[in-house]
Amino acid sequence: MLRHVTALGFALALLCLAHVCVPGLLHSANAGEADGFAAARERMVERDIARSSWAREGVKDKRVLDAMRAVPRHEFVPEARRHEAYADRPLPIGHGQTISQPYIVAYMTELLKAEPEHKALEIGTGSGYQAAVLAEIVDKVYTIEIIEPLAERGEKDLKEQGYDNVEVKHGDGYFGWPEHAPFDVIIVTAAASHIPPPLVEQLKPGGHMVIPVGPPLQTQHLIVVEKLEDGTIRRKSVMPVRFVPLTRARDEDE
Ligand code: SAH
Repeated sequence: MLRHVTALGFALALLCLAHVCVPGLLHSANAGEADGFAAARERMVERDIARSSWAREGVKDKRVLDAMRAVPRHEFVPEARRHEAYADRPLPIGHGQTISQPYIVAYMTELLKAEPEHKALEIGTGSGYQAAVLAEIVDKVYTIEIIEPLAERGEKDLKEQGYDNVEVKHGDGYFGWPEHAPFDVIIVTAAASHIPPPLVEQLKPGGHMVIPVGPPLQTQHLIVVEKLEDGTIRRKSVMPVRFVPLTRARDEDE
């Protein structure tokens, strides 16, 4: 009898191991992975984004740095590239497109001078990462992507990461999103041959737009467009960059 009780106890202990302890182990493995990504992200912010070097200025805006600390970039890159998510370089996201280098994402976001009550428009959703960074800072983000499967995946990934203040649309961002205009800030993450007039139109007085302008597949210039309160437009070229081109759904509308 005693032997049976002991055997039963042993079996129960095994069951306990299988049901409680094993999920516990799995949980700590996931937690370990999350800790590893968080540490890599912190290193990326300190080493590649906040620090100035001879080649470039460090990003100083605390809101931007905190957003870069908060967004899990590894959740926005293809599974096979996760281990590279916190290196300071662009990565392919399929359909010939790329997720921008983290420093550029942070630098462009800083140039927007975004505030918590702002409404933002992004052209070129891509992976959804830049939209997530903005969504950490502003009240609402509207983002447009011309490649439908990217728009769908970006939307899904943003929702999965809890970014309920982002709205994704499939379409040609050249025309902006007039139904939600004007926008306090506009960011274009693909290189345009010229600054699209509809986007200037949809920028609020006092607002900033950041856009790479120049020929496709060559060096372009990052331009900050500021609309003053009286409607005057100021443009400033801040840095040479290289972005994938802004493509057009209907070239005849240009
Ligand atoms: N912001 C993205 C970077 C994407 S790369 C990220 O964080 O991952 C630029 C994106 O702009 C590509 O996905 C490309 O398909 C998209 N794009 C190019 N032309 C466009 C257009 N006219 N309207 C909307 N999106 C466009």
